Amino acid sequence: AAKANGKGQYEFYRPQLSERLVVRLDREQALRKAIELDEFVLFYQPRVDTFTGELRSLEALVRWMHPERGLVPPQEFIPMAEETGLIVQLGELVIRKACAQLAQWRRQHLPVVPVSINVSPRQFNEGNLSALFSACMSEQDIAPSLIEIEITESCMIGEGNAVNEELSAIEALGIKLLVDDFGTGYSSLSHLQRLDFDILKVDRAFTAQLCNGKEGEAFFMAILSMAHVLGMGVVAEGVETAEQLHVLQALSCNEVQGYFISRPVPASEVPDFFARRYLFHAEHRSPLHAV
Ligand code: C2E
Ligand code: MG
Ligand code: MG
Ligand code: MG
Repeated sequence: AAKANGKGQYEFYRPQLSERLVVRLDREQALRKAIELDEFVLFYQPRVDTFTGELRSLEALVRWMHPERGLVPPQEFIPMAEETGLIVQLGELVIRKACAQLAQWRRQHLPVVPVSINVSPRQFNEGNLSALFSACMSEQDIAPSLIEIEITESCMIGEGNAVNEELSAIEALGIKLLVDDFGTGYSSLSHLQRLDFDILKVDRAFTAQLCNGKEGEAFFMAILSMAHVLGMGVVAEGVETAEQLHVLQALSCNEVQGYFISRPVPASEVPDFFARRYLFHAEHRSPLHAV
């Protein structure tokens, strides 16, 4: 049909393509401008000990405070930031904000808990990530034990040595390395072993299967024993119910994170976590709402 129509076909498709391209460029431009204007804010989600409910770390999760759309979640701009390379600048903003926040909590004399920062593969290739971390830590006088980074399995493969070298340099600074969304990618045991990962975060898809019969439990148990043999702690992501928490306690999973404990909250609500000390009561195994 295209041939029969000749030039007509071409004329027919071009406006649609360019319209899509214009939308794309508009969105990219908007993101670029948002980075310049610094329209981003970090929310924090606690990660707690499975048995005591004690706060172990706060995961920094970025949101875009869009002047018209309000709070925009990361799925709506991180993929574009990764494609366009803007993630390098955005990622730097995130690291700076997290370090500044740690310094502010310290000035408020709040208890010190590490902040866990999500890092995308492109940040390893194009940004000098270890130098950035060490600069931000020294500017704000933050100990490396207060910083953790989360990388997905896809970060470890394909990209090759650039990632490995930067990860080793970051690890040498004393920053903890976490594997994020474990089970959704293709990392092998050798990837996990070669780099000294401290903690494996098991994707919430596996947590969701925990109470649907023995298979889900058996699968989680296998991940736990593998991680423990490799010397890693395990975090279950996406814990939404008391039943899931019970099973994870029975399986000796080290730490938990999810809506059952708390949703991500703005920095202003974090002092409440510090005040509660235990985010759920070990005996009652339900979230403690009283401060
Ligand atoms: P992630 O690092 O795996 O973070 C966990 C996501 O799951 C968060 O979504 C969190 O709000 C959500 N979540 C936590 N507990 C539960 C639960 O019990 N049930 C359900 N259904 N969801 C839960 P969020 O904040 O929308 O972030 C989505 C993803 O965006 C993150 O996944 C991470 O990959 C990415 N991201 C967020 N902030 C940054 C950042 O600063 N840099 C980079 N590179 N990526 C980021
Ligand atoms: Mg994460
Ligand atoms: Mg995750
Ligand atoms: Mg993720």
